Amino acid sequence: MSFNVDEKSANAALARRDLAHVWHPCTQMKDHEANLPMIPIRRGEGVWLEDFEGKRYLDSISSWWVNLFGHANPRLNAALIEQVGQLEHVIFAGFTHEPAIELAEALTAVAPPGLNRCFLADNGSAAVEVAVKMAYHYWRNSGRPAKRRFLTLANSYHGETLGALAVGNVALYKEVYAPLLMDVLIAPSPDAWQREAGEDAAACARRLFEPMRAMLERHADELAAVIVEPLVQCAGNMRMYHPVYLTLLRTACTEYGVLLIADEIAVGFGRTGTLFACEQANISPDLLCLSKGLTGGYLPLSAVLAPQRIYDAFYDEYQKLNAFLHSHSYTGNPLACAVARETLRMFADTPVIDNNRQLAALMAEATAPLRDHAHVAEVRQTGMILAIELVRDKASRTPYDWRERRGLAVYRHALSRGVLLRPIGEVVYFMPPYVITPDEIALLGQVAAEAIEVATCA
Ligand SMILES: *Cc1c(COP(=O)(O)O)cnc(C)c1O
Repeated sequence: MSFNVDEKSANAALARRDLAHVWHPCTQMKDHEANLPMIPIRRGEGVWLEDFEGKRYLDSISSWWVNLFGHANPRLNAALIEQVGQLEHVIFAGFTHEPAIELAEALTAVAPPGLNRCFLADNGSAAVEVAVKMAYHYWRNSGRPAKRRFLTLANSYHGETLGALAVGNVALYKEVYAPLLMDVLIAPSPDAWQREAGEDAAACARRLFEPMRAMLERHADELAAVIVEPLVQCAGNMRMYHPVYLTLLRTACTEYGVLLIADEIAVGFGRTGTLFACEQANISPDLLCLSKGLTGGYLPLSAVLAPQRIYDAFYDEYQKLNAFLHSHSYTGNPLACAVARETLRMFADTPVIDNNRQLAALMAEATAPLRDHAHVAEVRQTGMILAIELVRDKASRTPYDWRERRGLAVYRHALSRGVLLRPIGEVVYFMPPYVITPDEIALLGQVAAEAIEVATCA
């Protein structure tokens, strides 16, 4: 393959134009001025992204956890093209359309039992805002307006709009904006990282459930809902916990009359080994937030699923003014709904969950040697999410100073080897599209090992 002069400098030219006007999310723009060039991508196919100079990158993080079946997936492309020829958008109040109806039918059919109502929004944070407002409003309509507070887990992440940020607990995102946020209650995370000597993940979850139970009991009269990320706190360093915690939490929420909101925005759609993470605890939440994989990584869309009981609390004569009040201009966008409907059909037509079991086993195999690395405290995995936590000292689990930016060194090295790995702090993780091949998983393991070596050697 030969490059002409223009192609050789195509990346740099676009990066320059980008820096002149674009402001990127969660990014210190200064980082990208000198030795960390912005990478312009011209096309994607399967797990691969290709820049303007023809260099390819294995997208091991599914482009921020959204992609399920690869970039430029032929089925999803066809569904989108078919829909755009029919109807690109229509107001979703007073009007409806087949993609939204069929999506709501399909989602409520596969969701945990009892969730038969589907409310649509545009992204994950918006779904959390909807769930928070709906939970409070449910109690208000039920004659319990004092139930207006929320209880969340330490180290949780639920998005970055103000309501979603308030019910999260990752300092990096929250600290600066704290003065703007509603006050929430925080229970310890059941994260198995905190296992004591001789304790397994289940015992750890049971022990750490006790303070949660105590808070539910003490604050039942003022609590509208508890919000959790089932099984994996993804943005919170990919910390993982045992499903028994969710089982205990479901029982206690029912006992104390507090709604349970499950935020499966990151973990839904097969990420944890089951279609929804809640299935592993055999529970149904009162509200289920979905986004990210919902459209296979194509378009922004989210859904909040609710049971009939919650829907009924809003159902009344117009003059009572009990209707739920939340709308976005693009609510129920037909293009996004059509792609989401096709994504669900792919789960129905192909043995995705079974295939992922093989892939997850290969991910474990590819990273097994890292368990003995002097700076790897833990390699943990829940289904298609695998995380490698780097520390300065393995025995005491002393973390690296964050200012050293060890994760950034991993990112850089992996990029030079054609792999997109984007550690969260010092936690290197794989969350690949489900179309990744065994050879690509092997490459991922090899490049991660090299990059970790480079990042921890000095
Ligand atoms: C990504 C994420 C969100 C926010 O979704 P956005 O679409 O980025 O607003 C909320 N909750 C969890 C668990 C997430 O991982």
